[in-house]
Amino acid sequence: MLLEARNVSKAFGDFRAVAGADLSVEEGEIIGLIGPNGAGKSTFFNCLAGDTMPTTGTISFAGADVTFTPPDLRARAGIGRTFQVPTTFEDMSVLHNVMVGAFLRHPHRNDARTQAMRIVELTGLRPDQPARSLGTPGRKRLEIARVLATQPRLLLLDESLAGLTPTELRDAIALVRRIHEMGITMVIVEHIMEVIMTLTKRVLVFNQGRVIATGTPEQVVREQAVIEAYLGRRHRGQGT
Ligand code: ADP
Ligand code: MG
Repeated sequence: MLLEARNVSKAFGDFRAVAGADLSVEEGEIIGLIGPNGAGKSTFFNCLAGDTMPTTGTISFAGADVTFTPPDLRARAGIGRTFQVPTTFEDMSVLHNVMVGAFLRHPHRNDARTQAMRIVELTGLRPDQPARSLGTPGRKRLEIARVLATQPRLLLLDESLAGLTPTELRDAIALVRRIHEMGITMVIVEHIMEVIMTLTKRVLVFNQGRVIATGTPEQVVREQAVIEAYLGRRHRGQGT
């Protein structure tokens, strides 16, 4: 098992955004994480990546307990994540943004540049383009590139494929496949069921901070609890 999260909770005052969630990820998997807005998916990622510390539970990665390990050390251990709202170093080029990630494992500038260049090519970005001139899809791609440059073993993608045109979405799915072929294990938060169906063999459904269903995409979309909590509402056009 690459990642084991057990009974993870995160409370904000009396409110438990994550309320006893479990997740086991085997090396090589792509897992889908779905559920309505506010279900706690991003907060759960924050707990896994060390961007927030859980209120209860344990998280182990590659055999080591990382429950309270700070995010930089988790990145070094091989946990990479993107954020739902991407952030870039606006005044820097795409290449320099990606070099920020590459410096984690390549302290020498030339090595970092070589590593970053390889990743920029893989992701189909233009190295000399200023980050500030990128639209949202470009920013999401840049964030994927920056985290890839840290050479993660596990990549947590938080709605990195949201808001894309059909063509951009096709390219993004192809990119996710390439990343997976590089041997990187992934957990993907995504609302577009088609993307989940295409990319994943196992899905967890989150609702009110807990996993309410798990199985193949085909299995979970038929579960009554999932339809009630998530899919039904979406199909009536009220969710996102
Ligand atoms: P999701 O990613 O599934 O949409 P989030 O993890 O972003 O859900 O949020 C889960 C719940 O936790 C929401 O109700 C949100 O408002 C709340 N929440 C998230 N972060 C904080 C915070 N820092 N302080 C208080 N409440 C928060
Ligand atoms: Mg979220």
